[in-house]
Amino acid sequence: MNAEIEELYQEVILDHSRRPRNFGELADAAVRVHGDNPACGDEIHLGVKFDAGGGLQDIKFTGHGCAISQASASLMTMKLSGKNRAEVMEMLQAFHNLVTDERSEAPKTLGDLVVMRGVRKFPQRVKCAMLAWRAVEQALEQGTGEASISTEPA
Ligand code: ZN
Repeated sequence: MNAEIEELYQEVILDHSRRPRNFGELADAAVRVHGDNPACGDEIHLGVKFDAGGGLQDIKFTGHGCAISQASASLMTMKLSGKNRAEVMEMLQAFHNLVTDERSEAPKTLGDLVVMRGVRKFPQRVKCAMLAWRAVEQALEQGTGEASISTEPA
């Protein structure tokens, strides 16, 4: 990847960490998930509302932590809003590949999320990038109520 593109990616990440999109409490959330990444000190609180078909109608988050964790959450909420379950799981897998697999070509469906691909060079940051995604995975699994997840094994 050339330096110019890397710089551009950096800018997008900083922009999303400073001015996160879909940031705030989701008043009528069906499920709320608290995500913790103790290795870095990142926290994400995710609220999700489902549509009649079980897809993600609305998704918002609050939290604090490193730029990678917050930008990943911000970009993720933009990407997953309005997506059905299968699309969400597909994107989760594609994103995980993007941040872990050197050989992974970024599928077009990921859109702006491609800016996170630099994380693959820093294995300790993968948990930061995946935190919001693990939270949304838990939200889908649980469907209702409250949950907590951690990137560290219990
Ligand atoms: Zn972090």
